[in-house]
Amino acid sequence: MNSAALYTSRIVRVRAAMREQSVDALLVSVGHDLPYLVGYHAMPLERLTALVVTSSKSTLLVPRLEAPRVEHHASVFDLVSWDETQDPVAIVASLLLDSKRIAVGDQMWSRFLVDLLRQLPGRDYVRSVDVVGPLRASKDDAEIAALAAAGAAADRVAAQLQRGEIPLVGRTEAEVSADISARLLAEGHDVVNFAIVAAGENAASPHHHPGRREIRRGEIVLCDFGGTMNGYCSDITRCVHLGAPPADVQRAWSDLQRAQEAGVQAGVVGGTCESVDAAARGVLEGAGWGDYFIHRTGHGIGMEAHEEPYMVRGNVLQIAHGHAFSVEPGIYVSGKWGMRLEDIVVATTNGPQRMNHATRDLVVL
Ligand code: ZN
Ligand code: ZN
Ligand code: ZN
Repeated sequence: MNSAALYTSRIVRVRAAMREQSVDALLVSVGHDLPYLVGYHAMPLERLTALVVTSSKSTLLVPRLEAPRVEHHASVFDLVSWDETQDPVAIVASLLLDSKRIAVGDQMWSRFLVDLLRQLPGRDYVRSVDVVGPLRASKDDAEIAALAAAGAAADRVAAQLQRGEIPLVGRTEAEVSADISARLLAEGHDVVNFAIVAAGENAASPHHHPGRREIRRGEIVLCDFGGTMNGYCSDITRCVHLGAPPADVQRAWSDLQRAQEAGVQAGVVGGTCESVDAAARGVLEGAGWGDYFIHRTGHGIGMEAHEEPYMVRGNVLQIAHGHAFSVEPGIYVSGKWGMRLEDIVVATTNGPQRMNHATRDLVVL
């Protein structure tokens, strides 16, 4: 499919979702709904970029100086550029005059929304994630291939870690994080989104910020990293142990591996998001680690590192073909050690498919 046809089909589907939810207009700005729908990334700056989709028209409004960057598919949207002396919110308001119910992008700056609320009072404002989120959550074949390619690139860095090619002992977490980041780029990522490196007791903090703490023999090192490659994200967590792990860590890892496997296997079409969480959590609870698993089991992934759907208790959304999400249970023993094991999984009619294949053992270095 050429890109104009791809974006046309997405606009057609988003209009159907709008009709279903009685939404008269969709308004998206910075964030990933915009590139998903028209292939254009807004600069996340103070000048307003906005796409307005109504039942009959779609209009991309950009600052005049950004217009040369727009690949304009005239069959998909009208392009309007605004001058430095104009009020872009007034232009948006004029496009929305006849709309009663307006879905607004989650990441649109509040400075524009606040102005719009004043210029267009009496409308019913809802969130665009309910309209665009379900479309973005179901990946097509090209998107699944992009996730697989990004996953394979992240796997190559994980394998380097597991082969001992990334020096650890005597380096700081921050140094190892920078090393992993460079390797993600070398393996084909366009940007690095994060590279968490947490040693020993720091690994008990799931989103630890790598710092000056020096890595020593005898401890676990948790590495959780990912980037964006051709528009789609990778995200993987592996742990290595520097020297033979003590018995409690060894036992915890085998419980964690079983929990992660159970979570992956629950990611079947027709299952629910919360059943993935329950499957992984059930294993850890059964092994006595329930109180040490302090976050949801996973998040959706695609153009964004975290997006719909979320694998969390209470999310009864049915898993569909093309849903892509992480399965990442962890065990965190405060002040001592922590561990997490994460793969990206795509639910397909042939069962759950992992996008990551680096060994899931606790590799001893
Ligand atoms: Zn996270
Ligand atoms: Zn991760
Ligand atoms: Zn993740």
